Amino acid sequence: MHMKATGYKTILIKGGVVLTINPSEDIFSEGYVLIEGDTIKGIGTITEAPPDETVEKVIDARDGLIMPGLINTHTHAAMACLRGLADDLPLETWLNDYIFPVEAHYVNPEFVYQGARLAGIEMIRSGTTCFADGYFFEEEAARAVSRLGLRAILGQGILDFPTPDVPNPDKNLEKGEKYLKQFPSSSLITPALFCHSAYTCKPETLKKARAVCNDHGIPLLIHLAETESEVKEIMARYGVSPITHLLNIGVLEGETIAAHCIWISPEEFSVLKEKEVRIAHCPESNMKLASGVAPVPEFLKLGIPVGLGTDGCASNNNLDLFSEMDTAAKVHKLARKDPSVMDAKTVVKLATIGGAEVLGLKNKVGSLEPGKKADIIILNWKQPHLTPVYNYYSHLVYSATGHDVRTLIVDGTVIMDNQQILTVNEKEVMSEVEKIVGEIKKGRLNHVR
Ligand SMILES: [Zn+2]
Repeated sequence: MHMKATGYKTILIKGGVVLTINPSEDIFSEGYVLIEGDTIKGIGTITEAPPDETVEKVIDARDGLIMPGLINTHTHAAMACLRGLADDLPLETWLNDYIFPVEAHYVNPEFVYQGARLAGIEMIRSGTTCFADGYFFEEEAARAVSRLGLRAILGQGILDFPTPDVPNPDKNLEKGEKYLKQFPSSSLITPALFCHSAYTCKPETLKKARAVCNDHGIPLLIHLAETESEVKEIMARYGVSPITHLLNIGVLEGETIAAHCIWISPEEFSVLKEKEVRIAHCPESNMKLASGVAPVPEFLKLGIPVGLGTDGCASNNNLDLFSEMDTAAKVHKLARKDPSVMDAKTVVKLATIGGAEVLGLKNKVGSLEPGKKADIIILNWKQPHLTPVYNYYSHLVYSATGHDVRTLIVDGTVIMDNQQILTVNEKEVMSEVEKIVGEIKKGRLNHVR
């Protein structure tokens, strides 16, 4: 119903700065972008724009900044329902005493559907057009995300203990394969498998998941080398560190999107490089859980693909990639006492073209170039906190926030116009989520605490 009104055959975005993130890093201080169907057809300076009457819809972007939609390479969308549930705890305590027990009791299809809708709205509002997700009942996330109109890689969660959607862990891959059949790849959604980690999945499970992903030509998503205690645990069990463990059992033979990669030994850099592992860097979650600082400058030097991720809402606690960019730029400077690392332009690239590379979508999205899919955001650029302008990248990383995004287009469809989301009723979603968490808030958590 809503979707129809937002789809146009041709859209001309004109006026405003166009930041392309193309290989030559072109910026047009007053430019245009022409969209035909789902694809960018033309881009350039405003004097070369086609006449208004040749297109179906003109978007006036004066006083705006037009750029590629941001890409979130690692999150757990439905965890939006658990935002602020338990903070200020180490990862093991947070997971084992709060998150896992609450998930076991309260996560069901409705929780995942409404949580994914809430997360989707937050991502739309803060300029994210594409993301990678991993959770339980992932078919519900797929249902939510396809209605919202976002682009996503959606991984069905695999763990070797009873989960809300797979009470008998022996059937976790059966469930995964069923999900992959249920949601074949579409233009916007790629289904995938998300093995939680090497400490929650047995080698046998990881190997089987790898084989299923390779059969389907889809990436395997995993948390990898996130905390020091993960390294100790894997060392105790298998005598090697997590990255080497995955290498030894053949789990890196195929497309792998690994979140975190913080605790890594010197010889493992070449393992990641050779196996073409792609890394989701989640600095805010890593800081909040005091997990550590990933060696991102070294990854970039080696040409290992890195994108930014927010991780789930329970460990961040928001999905705003502008805030994540700010943190990514600063945490490495502090950790190394070197303000020259992770400059603003590098960080904007991580959130756009870098993320596209990590998700295997570099030929489709991540920059504004003719032939690429039209995943575009427009920011309100004429604002006190963005004035004056010496450097666009600087403002995007150090001054802008998700609230500055006014228009968002995915695959040529306008999803948000002038801060009005067109594909969903936001108030309804928020009240549905409040209903769901009412049960959790009623104090039924007491047995957990
Ligand atoms: Zn995560």
